Amino acid sequence: MDYSANRIYLSPPHMGGQEEHYIRDAFNKNWIAPMGENVDGFEQDLQEYTNRNEAAAVSSGTAAIHLALILCDVGLGDEVICQSFTFTASANPIRYQGATPIFIDSEPVTWNMDPQLLEKAILDRMEKGVKPKAIILVHLYGMPAKVDRILAVAGKYDIPVIEDAAEAMGSAVEHYKCGGFGLLSIFSFNGNKIITTSGGGALLSDDRRLIRKGRFLATQARDEAPHYQHSQLGYNYRMSNIVAGIGRGQMQVLDEHVKARRANHAFYFEQLEGVWLEEETLQTMQTPAFTGAGTSKGIYFLREPAGYFSNRWLTTILVNPEETGGVTATDIRLALEEKNIESRPLWKPMHLQPLYRSCKHYENGVSEKLFELGLCLPSGSNLSNRERLRVVSVIRKTLRDVHYE
Ligand SMILES: *Cc1c(COP(=O)(O)O)cnc(C)c1O
Repeated sequence: MDYSANRIYLSPPHMGGQEEHYIRDAFNKNWIAPMGENVDGFEQDLQEYTNRNEAAAVSSGTAAIHLALILCDVGLGDEVICQSFTFTASANPIRYQGATPIFIDSEPVTWNMDPQLLEKAILDRMEKGVKPKAIILVHLYGMPAKVDRILAVAGKYDIPVIEDAAEAMGSAVEHYKCGGFGLLSIFSFNGNKIITTSGGGALLSDDRRLIRKGRFLATQARDEAPHYQHSQLGYNYRMSNIVAGIGRGQMQVLDEHVKARRANHAFYFEQLEGVWLEEETLQTMQTPAFTGAGTSKGIYFLREPAGYFSNRWLTTILVNPEETGGVTATDIRLALEEKNIESRPLWKPMHLQPLYRSCKHYENGVSEKLFELGLCLPSGSNLSNRERLRVVSVIRKTLRDVHYE
């Protein structure tokens, strides 16, 4: 790994300034423990931000998903529906519970779970005598899913929704704030997320009892007694008071981070849209599968549908080699790497992962296509204008070189 200052990272941490104050306070009070003032304060901040009744700070987003599944009573032999186009942490906790994931492909407008396929899967599984225990919905790259439609399907069959909002803090659609709906929601504060505690997560709900139960399970399920007594299986999933101090400082700059990430996206869009091909080529390059993505000359951006607000955690592009004169997303990634700039392919869908290939999945080809054509560009909230220009100039040059060959 290259730790030099010259390297441009995909999504590095960005401290606001107050984080150390909260940590120092914990040191001064010698409260170097799980739980404490910072944890309480951070949970309060999260509740207020999402309008949720209760939030529990935990050790990771993955731990929060695991707890959410336990709270939905998911156990051995159960089936849980999960978005296929996501990071593996959305799905792994299903396996921790001895349950089986059923993967659902994405629709092309938001790149998240296709509501039609979701209903098809539920009906199909019910016909086979197994009703899915929960639905794990993801807002990938910060773009909210088709929340109304998903909630309608979930409600029709009375299946709880777990909202994986790990990438979507600060995003919203209509009146739904990401992290603010569904039976349970989770956030991640991993180092690459829109705010970070270096590692951490949160579990949120409007049902106070559920979150209190989650907190209990996250602290080794210790019964009330002077000695250590346990009648249930617990976990060590609580967030430490030091780490929560970073979280309190980060909450103060969350909105600024969203603004900066959206500005990155706007910059890339402006700089790369329509760089290359001639007007007549523009007429012929409608790619039906991605009408919602918005066109530019061989480079496609994910558009915000009306009523949607994405935090633009990562700016993603689709590169169609049929329109760029053969330049692929891989060509661009390698050219960027050569200039010490980190970029990354989109998430490889779970139904294509060796770990999950044998699982039941309902697909339409969308996420596979996205994985084939997509690239995540450097998107940090601390990315400077000079750095963004460096990225854009490498991409432009890669496109141009092939054109003049
Ligand atoms: C980061 C992430 C997670 C997991 O969060 P951790 O805090 O790293 O455990 C889960 N789901 C998605 C979609 C993520 O991007």
